[in-house]
Amino acid sequence: MKHNFGAGPGILPHEVLKQAAEAVVDFNGIGLSILEISHRSAEFEAVLDEAVRLVKELLGVPEGYSVLFLQGGASTQFAMVPYNLLPETGKAAYLESGVWANKALKEAKYFGNVEVVATSKESNFTYIPKDFTIPADASYFHITSNNTIYGTQLKQFFPSPVPVVCDMSSDIFSRKINVADFGLIYAGAQKNMGPAGTTLVVIKDEILGKADRKIPAMFNYQTQIEGGSMYNTPPVYPIYVSMLTLRWLKAKGGVEAIEKENRAKADALYTEIDRNPLFKGVCAKEDRSDMNVCFVAENPEHEKPFLKLCDEKGIVGVKGHRSVGGFRASIYNALPITSVHVLIDAMQEFAEKNK
Ligand code: PLP
Repeated sequence: MKHNFGAGPGILPHEVLKQAAEAVVDFNGIGLSILEISHRSAEFEAVLDEAVRLVKELLGVPEGYSVLFLQGGASTQFAMVPYNLLPETGKAAYLESGVWANKALKEAKYFGNVEVVATSKESNFTYIPKDFTIPADASYFHITSNNTIYGTQLKQFFPSPVPVVCDMSSDIFSRKINVADFGLIYAGAQKNMGPAGTTLVVIKDEILGKADRKIPAMFNYQTQIEGGSMYNTPPVYPIYVSMLTLRWLKAKGGVEAIEKENRAKADALYTEIDRNPLFKGVCAKEDRSDMNVCFVAENPEHEKPFLKLCDEKGIVGVKGHRSVGGFRASIYNALPITSVHVLIDAMQEFAEKNK
């Protein structure tokens, strides 16, 4: 098996992949593939019910929130959020902490006014801005909890006078959060929850119905809530694999247990980056992500040979995003600490060879 440090789609637990593969041929021994069963069948309803229950349990979702499994990726949520929450004459506040935040705020501009409360664009998003005021007259305040491309992560959430909308695509289920602090959380499944093809939305029901515009059914959270994520044919297989991954997480001890493992993996890797003279981290230490660890070679000429060594060791997906360069090791929930140690050993071996 390879050591998969890919950023997205990310690694899934091996046992989940095995079960998912079996279900393609024969789902739970019923003589039909999971790809063939009706989404209205009792079998799939049980899958969706369990997936929703697991999300509620693992995140501690309080009363008054709905859990949806939608399609279109997190990028569709960039538009769906303002479509549903931002009146044409209203204003939404955005924190611009990376390219995904920037894409989100650009979409919001199609629907109403946008105030960017702060940005770290001038430093190519190497830190998370913290010095700003959230306007009390905004319809919502949008943040990105983990900036996948740059390797920064919000360690604390900002107290807000207005509902907080959070893109948690790359760190959902990786650490404890207090759902009650958020009006809406969304996340593409393909990092910590499952395969690409479904998007999780957790929404506080009372924030809906204020945008005062007509919304087509598929883009309307209310329609999706009333349809129980089945207004149209849902992405049966991605929801099934997400459910299996959430089961796996529950069996491991839930978010609290995985948070400890994630901390240990990140600590080990950052310690090596700071210790090894050939590499250096790229973002502000206090904002370093526990999910996407970005670093560069002190000598740019070392980049290619280090990637070659990684390849030889079965380490895949560590090439940095094209807008940052260098390396990015994504250490999502399903990546075992043993893989992190293989990467650390490779860094040490490389340093030894290039003294
Ligand atoms: N938001 C964040 C934080 C991401 O990391 C990504 C993809 O990597 C997206 C949004 C876009 O997600 P999707 O491809 O599901 O639209």
